[in-house]
Amino acid sequence: MNIDDLNQDTTEALSDQDITIAKCVSCGANIQFDPSSQMLKCEYCGAEVDFDKSRSTENISIENLARNHAQWDNDTSVYKCDNCGAVEIVSKTEIAKECSYCHSTSVVSLDSLSGVKPDSVLPFIIDKKTASQRVENWIKRKFFAPKKFKNSFSPEQLRGVYNPAFVFDSNTFSSYKGSLGKHYTVVVGSGKNRRTEVRTRWFRVSGPHYDRYDNIVIHASNQVEQHVMNKLSPFNVEQAQNYNDNYLHGFRANHYHKDGLSCWEDAKDIIYTETKKRIIRSLHRMYDFDVVGKFHVDTQCYNIGYNYVLLPIYVGHCSYNQNDYNYFVNGFSGKITGKLPFDTGKLFFLIGLGVAVIAGIWGLFNILPIMLGMGTK
Ligand SMILES: [Zn+2]
Ligand SMILES: [Zn+2]
Repeated sequence: MNIDDLNQDTTEALSDQDITIAKCVSCGANIQFDPSSQMLKCEYCGAEVDFDKSRSTENISIENLARNHAQWDNDTSVYKCDNCGAVEIVSKTEIAKECSYCHSTSVVSLDSLSGVKPDSVLPFIIDKKTASQRVENWIKRKFFAPKKFKNSFSPEQLRGVYNPAFVFDSNTFSSYKGSLGKHYTVVVGSGKNRRTEVRTRWFRVSGPHYDRYDNIVIHASNQVEQHVMNKLSPFNVEQAQNYNDNYLHGFRANHYHKDGLSCWEDAKDIIYTETKKRIIRSLHRMYDFDVVGKFHVDTQCYNIGYNYVLLPIYVGHCSYNQNDYNYFVNGFSGKITGKLPFDTGKLFFLIGLGVAVIAGIWGLFNILPIMLGMGTK
């Protein structure tokens, strides 16, 4: 894409539907998307402005994935953290002063484009204050977190970041062929050698299987590790809205690392594995068998739809004893996960306590009777 295309895209983006509001109409201060009211709110005077929202309904046909996509327009800029390498997209009205992940101030603006423009966004519905309170309660319940860390924890360190994901729908047609086995026992040998042996009787099955998959979510950024995103799941993607730059005010987005086609490859792997499981489950309803032998499934996907969606997460950072820790809150459901400092002292104390209790019980049963002159015989 060249600069002319970019300018064209921007002009198109300024249609009625997509107008972005950047400053407060009353006082001119910056405005931010407010999760509680789902409106734009002035940081300074509190004035609220609504904007056009519409539920994202139809998924886009997969054929479009390979084509050129609309790029994120001129309303965004890209920043890279020199300390941890995080690449974040921010609204043009915001200047990224520090990194969301490590809070380093060595962030530099990149000239590169922000990448493919999202089709939809799952808005934050939990505000920062509520998310911080949840984190505080979560940390209080973490027995192994050091006391010093718990006391110094500041909820101010949360930042709302959108993580990009491709969501896929597909119909499938599969044909399967395989063998199932039923165990039975036989008595063999005679006299002293007479014994029971387990054998397996195999029978062959084959047939067609139709299925439907909705909302398979593949995370497109590796800025937040996959296992973290899995722990924060589910994200209610069926509630996603059509993308509008206004959702980015006051928030950031992670740059994507995987394009739509490689995400579709991941989605297919999930579909293939799940289809095999579903076929075997349905065979269980028809046949009585104990083991699955060689089993081959050939699956074709059709009527495939996708959506490139931004998912809301709050990222928290803290340092303790020169180590960095990140914790995360699902901005839609409030689910929390993350790694915290670990107090090994507490662990050793517990082990010590356990050993003492066991020794005490041992003493009670072995030494006490002797002391009481009742010695065991
Ligand atoms: Zn204002
Ligand atoms: Zn960083």
